[in-house]
Amino acid sequence: MSEAIKVRGPGKVLFGEEEISERVAWMGRELARDLEGDLAKDDEDAQSHPDRVVILPILTGAFVFTADLIRSMPLKMSIRLVTASSYPGEATTSRGARLRGVIPSDLGGRHVVIIDDILDTGNTLELVRGLILEQNPASLRIVVLLDKQVPRHSEITPNYVGFEIPDEFVVGYGLDWNGYYRNLREIVTLEVE
Ligand code: 5GP
Ligand code: MG
Repeated sequence: MSEAIKVRGPGKVLFGEEEISERVAWMGRELARDLEGDLAKDDEDAQSHPDRVVILPILTGAFVFTADLIRSMPLKMSIRLVTASSYPGEATTSRGARLRGVIPSDLGGRHVVIIDDILDTGNTLELVRGLILEQNPASLRIVVLLDKQVPRHSEITPNYVGFEIPDEFVVGYGLDWNGYYRNLREIVTLEVE
């Protein structure tokens, strides 16, 4: 695999720390409010179930976003981590989604929320969504921090979007290039030669 690009490092700041934190807190409150609405409509049988809201963050990219989002959601939830990858190594274009490990198989009747860092081709979310829908969840929501403005074949429409971004490769706030830059507080473009 040889890409004809040379990466210089983090470039332009698209979203700063404060803007991200305000937006994410707002998303968490919206999501929690919508889930509470669904929970109130569950029948008695479902209401007695101890594990009704299940959060499925798609790792690795979504870990920082998820940590902030769930702390703005004052409701009982369990969190199950799912690992997917679509940019092995140094690539900056999608190579198709791959899951590592298994998706929980006990999601029937639960209110499931998938959290991902960024929607690009939609392959990752389509794969995960399919495996969850097969189990007949009570509800399924998709939350993405970033929605890349690219023409896409997939029919994924996230229920909650943090920010729309142009078709550029970005890093920071959990998003990496080749494993690096996840710890940046801002969301920035990746500078290439
Ligand atoms: P999709 O399956 O929608 O093409 O890709 C989604 C996954 O690809 C994301 O969860 C993310 O891990 C990775 N990805 C897509 N675009 C970017 C980007 O601009 N920067 C980084 N760091 N990862 C991206
Ligand atoms: Mg990802």
